[in-house]
Amino acid sequence: MKPQVMTALGPIAVEDMGVTSSHEHLLLGMPGWEYDASYTYDRRAVADKCIAQVKEAQKYGLQTLVDATPMDLSRDPELYKMVQGETGLNVICATGLYTEPEGNSAFWRLLAKYRGYDEALKRLTNAYMTDVSKGMHGSDVKCGVLKIATGKGAIAPIEELSIHAACLTQKELGTPIISHTAEASMGPATARMLLEKGADPKKTMIGHMCDTDELDCVIECLKMGFYVGLDRFGLNMIFTDDNKCVNLVKLVQMGYGDRILIGHDATIHNHVIDLIPDEIMATMTNWNLCGLFRAFIPRFKELGLTDAQVSKLMLDNPQRFFAGA
Ligand SMILES: [Zn+2]
Repeated sequence: MKPQVMTALGPIAVEDMGVTSSHEHLLLGMPGWEYDASYTYDRRAVADKCIAQVKEAQKYGLQTLVDATPMDLSRDPELYKMVQGETGLNVICATGLYTEPEGNSAFWRLLAKYRGYDEALKRLTNAYMTDVSKGMHGSDVKCGVLKIATGKGAIAPIEELSIHAACLTQKELGTPIISHTAEASMGPATARMLLEKGADPKKTMIGHMCDTDELDCVIECLKMGFYVGLDRFGLNMIFTDDNKCVNLVKLVQMGYGDRILIGHDATIHNHVIDLIPDEIMATMTNWNLCGLFRAFIPRFKELGLTDAQVSKLMLDNPQRFFAGA
């Protein structure tokens, strides 16, 4: 059988993914948003907001999006089905835990503390496997990717537990793993930990590695055989977009062009409020699903990439990654 990838509306052939953005969020909510009494979640309104942006990006050829939202940053399977159903965009959903400081992992920390690492690992792996093989939050929306996350300067115990659970799930079910690093910090350490715990680098991506000028760290991950995510184009409040473009072109020209996945890490709707202040948002006009097409891909070409090199980033590489080739 041809390799398949799971979307919100069921499996598709990997070869049908088409142009793919490898790390985005239709919806995001930092833990605690649900207690803000001044806000009510209107799924229909949020779906319309997502659909409007998706339709814009489809004009440029976008066909598939990886929604990298882990279980503790507020997923909505009904929303994913609506967006995919009403636009035809393939939405690949994620399971996993966010970082220890900013996620919602108290239960898992306490479980590991009182019942031991092995028990917590067994149950977290079961949670990930359930999301992949049965569906998230009791729905029939199955996850097509595992999301791990590491904080700044250290890999916290719960982050290690989650990496371990993701590796066991990958071994059992073959699911690809993507990662969040905090400004690329801990990228190589995460890669080494993934290898120790049995991850397949051909199906594993170390994310947000565009947020640094230290290309040695990026290359270290690539040399271990991992994909790297240069997946925050437009989010220039952390690292400048121009440096990201220059570094991407350098890496491609050094011969790593078949191991790079790109995206914006855009959030179309953030529960309650947009957390980023308006004056900063005003400077990030390309932080949306169209940014790569409108601003950054033209810039890659100005800096010397060929059409064939560009086409690998959003067409060939995501397919090879999801096929594990
Ligand atoms: Zn993200």
